[in-house]
Formats: sequence, structure tokens, C-alpha cells
Amino acid sequence: MAEKITAYRFERLDQTLSQLNKEDCAIMAGGTDVMVLHKSGRGVPPKIPKPIVFIDHLSELKRVYQNQKDLHIGACCTYSELLEEPCIPIPLKNAIKTIAAPAIRNRGTLGGNICNASPAGDTLPLLYVYNAKLLLRSVHGDRVVAISDFIQGPRRVGRNPNEILAEIILPSVVEEGSHVVFEKVGNRNADAIAKVSFAGYIRLNGTQIEEVRLCLGAVGPTMVRSIDIEKKLVGKTIPLADADIAQVVSAFDKIIKPIDDQRSTALYRKTVAINLIRYFLSMKQYQTN
Ligand SMILES: Cc1cc2nc3c(=O)[nH]c(=O)nc-3n(C[C@H](O)[C@H](O)[C@H](O)COP(=O)(O)OP(=O)(O)OC[C@H]3O[C@@H](n4cnc5c(N)ncnc54)[C@H](O)[C@@H]3O)c2cc1C
Repeated sequence: MAEKITAYRFERLDQTLSQLNKEDCAIMAGGTDVMVLHKSGRGVPPKIPKPIVFIDHLSELKRVYQNQKDLHIGACCTYSELLEEPCIPIPLKNAIKTIAAPAIRNRGTLGGNICNASPAGDTLPLLYVYNAKLLLRSVHGDRVVAISDFIQGPRRVGRNPNEILAEIILPSVVEEGSHVVFEKVGNRNADAIAKVSFAGYIRLNGTQIEEVRLCLGAVGPTMVRSIDIEKKLVGKTIPLADADIAQVVSAFDKIIKPIDDQRSTALYRKTVAINLIRYFLSMKQYQTN
């Protein structure tokens, strides 16, 4: 006889939060990671060890709006929906276009990518360089946490069982003069998990660097970003001297610790990661802006 599971699909977010406060449930947004994580043998339904609560349909989690210079993105917006949104930054759209194929993009959500906390999650390097903040909601209210504090390791996040990730906030995303780049290296342009990914952010005052942020994905247990390395570039003028670029490259070389797995080798990952840093720091496009 087929096993029974309990599943909840409330009409409103407050009802969902109230259930989560009473019972430890598995949250299911698009389900594209949950279903794979719990898959059983061929023809056997996935075994999810807790009651499931569906959140993908909740309108409160699907809003995209601008609040002054900040962009708020509902955690349950699917990738396909975000591609249709005019205010989503182009680099984020470019990253989304590299994710899986349309069927997965029609189900998978931005909030799911964050809460799944894969070292190869494609939106994560960009969200780190946008200094994304996450709005977590529970029956007790809201709290806001930086993405770099929320993601604690592979598939490990700082979420209390009664909380839902409600919004992703990109602060000052409409800032003038910043230049943001996303690069993913995989077997194909899309429908491939990243071997290495990279996001870079630079803001200039004339030829002087006011701020720079660099983040690598898939080269460690979680995203690799170093505020200390970034600070060394502030105040320098572009084009950067070879010695400055070499200093940054050597600092990253020390902190990235990629692994060998079915997708790539540690050596390939490290070489490509370093090349991506070098490429971004010597890019001509932002230098002529
Ligand atoms: C064939 C295939 C190809 C893929 N290709 C890529 C790829 O190229 N790049 C990539 O980055 N990923 C890829 N993925 C992974 C996946 O599609 C993404 O990570 C997606 O964003 C997950 O979103 P979801 O809504 O389906 O998450 P779900 O599977 O519903 O949830 C994932 C995790 O997050 C939790 N969760 C989800 N939403 C919330 C919320 N709002 N609040 C609290 N917890 C929440 C869930 O409980 C679960 O632990 C692929 C998956 C498949 C099956």
C-alpha cells in the first residue's frame, strides 16, 4: 500500500507561518531541489521525512517592487517570472538564463536557490556582490540578515524552522556608475551545473576605484568573497597596474580550495577561477565607461 504523507497548501502566508510554528515541516517552493534530494528508486515516489508545506503559490512571496533605491524580490518568484520583470538587473537575468532549461526555470525560485545553499548555486555569486539582504518572516515578525551570514555551508542555512524566506533585498541596486559582471563556466551555456562561477562589481569615481566586490562560486564549500582583498583595491586608479592585479590573484589563490568531483578537477577550477579574477580586473568595458 502506498505510504501517506501530510501536505499543507494554505491560501495565505499567515496561515502557512502559523502551521510552521506548530509543526516542523519541509518547505516546498518549486521543488526542483527538494524532489532530487529525496529521490528514491525508479518509479518510487520521493520519501520526504516530514510533512510538506507548499509555498510556491503564495502571492505575498511573489511580489517584485522598488523601495527607493532598493529592489525587493519575492522569494517564490520563479526564474521565468524574473526574466519578464523589467526592474531585475541585467546581470541577474544573464545568470538566470544559464540555469537549467525552461521547464526547471518555470518551477525553480530565487528563494529556493538561496535556501538550498549549493556551492554551485548560480544566483549566489551575484547576490553576494549585490550585498543581498534576506527578509525572513515568522509568526513572531520579520528579521533581515545578510546573505553571507545566512548561508553557513553546503546546504546549511541560518533559518529557524518556523521561518520562511519572504524577500531578497538588493540594496541600492540602481546605483549609478557601477559595473557588474557574471560569468559561469560549465559544459554548456545553459542546462549545466557550474564548474566555476564568478561575479564582480566595481564602482568608479573617474578613474579611481570607489568600491569593488569579487565573489567566486563552486570553488569551496560556499561562496568565496574577501572584504580584506577588496579593500586593498579601493583608491587605486584604473587601468590597474600588473602588480596590483597579481597581488589580488595571489591572495585569492591562497583562499580558494576547490575539489575534484564528477564535474571538474580542483586544478581546472582553480586555474579558471584565477583567470576570471584577472579578466575582470583588467576588463576594458568599464574602463571606457
Ligand atoms: C535538472 C535540474 C537542473 C538544475 N540546474 C541548475 C543550475 O543550472 N543552476 C542552479 O543554480 N541550480 C540548478 N538546479 C537546482 C534548482 O533548480 C535551483 O536551486 C532552484 O532555484 C531551487 O528552487 P526551488 O523553488 O525549486 O526550491 P525547492 O526545491 O522548493 O527548495 C530548495 C530548498 O530551499 C527551501 N526553501 C525553498 N524556498 C524557501 C523559502 N522561501 N523559505 C525557506 N525555505 C525555502 C526548501 O525547503 C529546500 O530546502 C537544477 C535542478 C534540476 C532538477
